[in-house]
Amino acid sequence: MNQIDTEVPPSGTGCVECEESGSWWVHLRRCAACGHVGCCDDSLNRHATAHAQRTGHAIIQSFEPGEEWFWDFRTDRFATGPVLAPPHSHPDDQSAPGPAARVPENWAEILQSRSRTAD
Ligand SMILES: [Zn+2]
Ligand SMILES: [Zn+2]
Repeated sequence: MNQIDTEVPPSGTGCVECEESGSWWVHLRRCAACGHVGCCDDSLNRHATAHAQRTGHAIIQSFEPGEEWFWDFRTDRFATGPVLAPPHSHPDDQSAPGPAARVPENWAEILQSRSRTAD
């Protein structure tokens, strides 16, 4: 499988599945193979990882402004990669966590209680 396609643009400015379900995210990751934008593992829904597991697309790049790192799920390590099709991040004025209109006021508490449960 071609794990990196430099021609395919990102799917949008937010997590595909969170936009559909009306949820929110902490940070965004972009699939290097198909452009799917999903939420990170610090988010409630972890859609970037779910996408990789579902599709076998193993490489993501941060979709946060100013971040260029890649992550390879096959090695569970940071990686480097080519320049993907623009844009390389969500808009600068889009909040993280986001989207601003859907982030609950107690979002930090929600994430903390989730990680306590996970332990
Ligand atoms: Zn999501
Ligand atoms: Zn993908």
